[in-house]
Amino acid sequence: MSAEEIEKLPGVGPATAEKLMDAGYNDLMAIAVESPRVLSDVAEIGDSTAGKIIQAAKEAADIGGFETGSELLEKRKSIGMLSTGAESFNDLLGGGIETGSITELFGEFGSGKTQIAHQLLVNATRTEEEGGLDGQAMIIDTENSFRPGRVCEIAEARDMDPEETLDNIHVGRAFNSHHQMLLADRALDLGKDNPIRLLVVDSLTSHFRAEYVGRGALAERQQTLNKHLHKLLNFADRNNAAIVVTNQVTANPDQFFGDPTKPIGGHILGHTATFRVYLRKSKGDKRIARLVDSPNMPEGEAVFKVEEAGITE
Ligand code: ATP
Ligand code: MG
Repeated sequence: MSAEEIEKLPGVGPATAEKLMDAGYNDLMAIAVESPRVLSDVAEIGDSTAGKIIQAAKEAADIGGFETGSELLEKRKSIGMLSTGAESFNDLLGGGIETGSITELFGEFGSGKTQIAHQLLVNATRTEEEGGLDGQAMIIDTENSFRPGRVCEIAEARDMDPEETLDNIHVGRAFNSHHQMLLADRALDLGKDNPIRLLVVDSLTSHFRAEYVGRGALAERQQTLNKHLHKLLNFADRNNAAIVVTNQVTANPDQFFGDPTKPIGGHILGHTATFRVYLRKSKGDKRIARLVDSPNMPEGEAVFKVEEAGITE
């Protein structure tokens, strides 16, 4: 949406429109669902003006209607399934990683998040019969942990051409959280001309964790992260792509659920990710994945391995 369109809302002049755009309110829906208090802070306007702007945005936004269950069932037929590389892990997820949704991989250091990311990038470029999405893949790398050499190893182990595989993987290094969000915009642009069916953000939260420190910064951090996640969902919708994000947490999962302010992401990530997978180390190269949140699969666990060949049974 352009600044002119925002300016059409009653009570919004050029200065307010610019402040809203700068703060990331670049579509009517984002304004429509905001609270007057937050909007008045962001745009430096009175609460009642903010209330009127929100009301007008609600009327102007395309909220859409309801669909029947059968219409939705028909739509779900277009959802792709991306193999993790291990059968048991796929079964845990009901067949694999779904397109159109966000899947969160969380776990402590060395639990295999980045290794799975590499495997998924490779798999996404494979045909559907081979468990892929028959497209290209993209990663926003925030920890400088993407290794092209690792992609080659994994591709070779599956008799794929390593160079061709690398050609189908787009890598963006994010230097800070702001840059990370800009790369998500860039991804949307690239997605218009390239069949990108997987977008990985590894790690979703590390920059946010480093930059927004302390309780005082929590609200702003969550708001920014929320905006970022909605951009990713938008990418998923437009490209029928799978979104996979990683998140590091302390070793104790109870601590994670008990105190949402501790690990970054907290409630917002929990509510936006459709599938949440908790990863932990087991003996040697064994790892355990536990599905902790899914709309259609029971909770359960799967054991897989991280090997030179990638993710295996
Ligand atoms: P962090 O939170 O620090 O980013 P992570 O969950 O991303 O951790 P990974 O980098 O995915 O962790 O896992 C690292 C582990 O993967 C190593 O400890 C090693 O066991 C295994 N690993 C990495 N590379 C290889 C390889 N080439 N062959 C076999 N195993 C490997
Ligand atoms: Mg990692």
